[in-house]
Amino acid sequence: MALVVQKFGGTSVADADRMREVADHVKRTRSRGDQVVLVVSAMGKETDELLRLADEVNGEPPGREMDMLITAGERKSIALMCMALHAAGVPADSFTGSQAGFETDNNHRNAKILSVDPHRVRDSVDKDRVAVVAGAQGMSGENNVTFLGRGGSDTTAVALAHGLGADACELYTDVSGVFTTDPRVCPGAKRMESISFDELLEMTAVGCPKPVMRSVEVARAFGVPLHVRSAFTWEPGTWVVEEDPDMERAIIKGIVPDTSQAKVTLSGVQDQPGLAAKVFRTLAEASVNVDMIVQNVSENGRTDISFTVPLDDLEVATSTCETLAETLNFAGVMADPDLGRVSVVGAGMASNPGVAATMFETLAEIDVNIEMIATSPIRISCVVSEADVDRATVALHAAYGLD
Ligand code: ASP
Ligand code: MG
Repeated sequence: MALVVQKFGGTSVADADRMREVADHVKRTRSRGDQVVLVVSAMGKETDELLRLADEVNGEPPGREMDMLITAGERKSIALMCMALHAAGVPADSFTGSQAGFETDNNHRNAKILSVDPHRVRDSVDKDRVAVVAGAQGMSGENNVTFLGRGGSDTTAVALAHGLGADACELYTDVSGVFTTDPRVCPGAKRMESISFDELLEMTAVGCPKPVMRSVEVARAFGVPLHVRSAFTWEPGTWVVEEDPDMERAIIKGIVPDTSQAKVTLSGVQDQPGLAAKVFRTLAEASVNVDMIVQNVSENGRTDISFTVPLDDLEVATSTCETLAETLNFAGVMADPDLGRVSVVGAGMASNPGVAATMFETLAEIDVNIEMIATSPIRISCVVSEADVDRATVALHAAYGLD
C-alpha cells in the first residue's frame, strides 16, 4: 500500500464535471489499495479573476488582504472537491493551508514555507479518509493567511508529500508530462518517460513552463519522486527522479525555446574595478533578473557590457541603466526586445564531447546567427533573434535525434 499526494491544477478542477472526474480517479486509486491526499488549485481562471477584482477596488491593495482574497479560490475548491468525493462514496475532509500545518514567512503574495506539520492530514489518512488540502497557502507566524505565489500549489503538494513521507507526488495537469520540446513549436516533440531533477531544473530555468521551478527545487532537496501527468487522459506521464535511468542513452534530453528574452547593452563603460559591481547591484535592487552577461575586450579603457533580462523586466532595466549612465559616465544604453533563447539540456553532455559543436553547426546550417552563448555543466543556451527561435528549436530537436 502506497501513500500518494495527487495535485490537481486549475484546469483539472475547472467545473463540476471535472471535479467528478477527479473524484472518480481518486476512487480508482484507492481501489488499488493506495491512500490518497489531494492538493487542489483554484478552479479554472479563478485566481486571475480575483486579482482583477482586487485591482478594480484598489490599484495597490494591501498584501494581507490580497492573500486573504486569493486564497479564497483554493478554499472554494477544497470544499467542492470534498462534496464530489462524498457523492462518489469516498470519505473526505477539507483543510486550508493553515489547518494542514503550513507555516510560512509573512511575505504576502509570495510567501515561503518555513515548516509543515501535517498532523491533521495524517489523522485523516489514518482513518482511511481522503484529506483535501488547499494549494498555495499557509499561515504566517503573525497568524496571517498567506499565499505562496502563482503556481504555488505544486510546491504545497511536494512539501506535503515530504511532510507525510509519501511514496510519490503526482502533479496532474493539462499536459501529459514533460516533453522533449514544446509540442506547439515542434510536431516531433515526445513525452519523456523520466528525467532527473537537475535536468528538469535547468529546463524550467530557461523557459519550460511546467512544473514550476520552486516545486522541483523542493522535490530535489527532499528527494520526493514526482510524476507529471495528465488529468484528462489519465495515462502515465513523466517521472522526475534523482538519477534518470535513461541517462546513459540520451545525451540530450530536451530543447527549450524561449521568446521572452531581451538584451541591454551598455556602451563605453569605463573598464575599471567596481563598475560591473555597481551596475548589477543597482539592477538587483530594482528586482531585475539578469541572466547572461558578456563583456567585450576593452579599447582605450572603455568596454561594452551586454546582458539579457526577461522581456517583462526590460523597461525597468533600461531606465535603471539610463540613470546609471549619468553617474557612472558611460556612453549609452541600448535595448533590444526582439530576442529569444534556445537551450539544449542533458546530463549526458557532461561526459560527451561535441554537443556544443553540433549545436553551433545546426544553427549555422539554417543560417541562424548566435548573439550570446551561456553554458552550465548540463546546458548550452544560445541567444538568437526572436524570429529564429522556432526553426532553431525544430532543427536542434532533429539534430540530437529527439524526433
Ligand atoms: N491558483 C494559484 C495560481 O493559479 C495557485 C496555484 O494553483 O498554484 O497561481
Ligand atoms: Mg496553477
